[in-house]
Amino acid sequence: MKTINELNAAGKRVLVRVDFNAPVKDGIVTDDTRLRAALPTIQKLIDDGARVILMSHRGRPSGEGFEEEFSLRPAALRLSELLGKPVSFASDIAGADATAKSNALKDGEVLIVENLRFDKREKKNDPAFCEELAKLGDVYVNDAFGTAHRAHASTAGVAKLLPAYAGFLMEKEVSTLTGMLDEPKRPFCAILGGSKVSDKIQVIDALLDKADTLIIGGGMCFTFLLAQGYSVGTSLKEDDWVERAGEMLEKAEQKGVKLLLPVDVVCADKFAEDAATKTVAVDAIPDDMMGLDIGPETVKLYAAAIAEAKTVFWNGPMGVFEMDAFAVGTRDVALAVADNAEADTIIGGGDSVAAVNKFDLADRMTFISTGGGASMELVEGKELPGVVALA
Ligand code: AMP
Repeated sequence: MKTINELNAAGKRVLVRVDFNAPVKDGIVTDDTRLRAALPTIQKLIDDGARVILMSHRGRPSGEGFEEEFSLRPAALRLSELLGKPVSFASDIAGADATAKSNALKDGEVLIVENLRFDKREKKNDPAFCEELAKLGDVYVNDAFGTAHRAHASTAGVAKLLPAYAGFLMEKEVSTLTGMLDEPKRPFCAILGGSKVSDKIQVIDALLDKADTLIIGGGMCFTFLLAQGYSVGTSLKEDDWVERAGEMLEKAEQKGVKLLLPVDVVCADKFAEDAATKTVAVDAIPDDMMGLDIGPETVKLYAAAIAEAKTVFWNGPMGVFEMDAFAVGTRDVALAVADNAEADTIIGGGDSVAAVNKFDLADRMTFISTGGGASMELVEGKELPGVVALA
């Protein structure tokens, strides 16, 4: 991948795919994390005297044209505040307004065009739409790692029509995650949680080829416990995946990977904050209760493995962390990761990022990925169309 460090951007119209898919309430961006993540790239292009044209998707509009609730105008307002300079906004994507405004930009000025997904041709990677987008710029930069696993017009097609470069965020995400997979400092401990085995099986399979220790928590641990012959009461389970889970246990043994499963769980009589709870060993889960968090003995076991690691990768909560009653396991695992200051600690997007933020531990991690789906696909060993297009 060529990066923007190799781009002489002065005086050029630089078309930049960013991920400004930020939450908005009453016309105001309520969480500007994604905008901030793209600032180094945008600022560098401004400083180099480029004419910067930003494009992004936001939410899931129908693709049949403008929908107020998904407009990117609030992002333009917030970006202007963050940059401390005006940011102009085009009310279409690559139509008359965007074209006129991109042509009128002066060196160092910034324009945002309207939500790419207002046009259904974006997700279809439609060649005519790619041509229209390409006309907005002289060169193309992709800094939207979060959508790099999608082969859309703005992430894949347009990259073939213009000289293409990776932005700083894209470069950092890809180099951190591939570095972790190819040359981890050992021991390499991967922690996987979340609800379903079926969603994570390829990640588990791929990490068994790379990691020294694999820790499993969250709803998906119960399918593994079933594979080991335990009964799991009314816990979340996927009967069709028990066999595959068993194969993963075997693979771990063959590969010499230490695969850790809970030894105790916090059970509840219903899926609710005010449920009656009971912490039990995994061989004593009551038939009428469900496991909603890992227990304290499990936390000790997991924390000890995390403390020994030199590389830690984490994706997925250890329990139903949205409810305080079942957030302790996730919090304590997050703390154990944060406390290992020696290790490279990499948080792989999605709910684990939400958990790390909830417990105010973000600045104690080495790297927090901005792309949940994209980082998982990269770890699975899949080629990301948005990355391949930059090669
Ligand atoms: P995922 O989207 O697959 O990463 O899963 C995240 C979701 O898994 C979160 O909303 C958690 O509340 C949920 N989760 C974690 N542990 C459990 C559990 N033991 N039972 C049910 N849901 C869980």
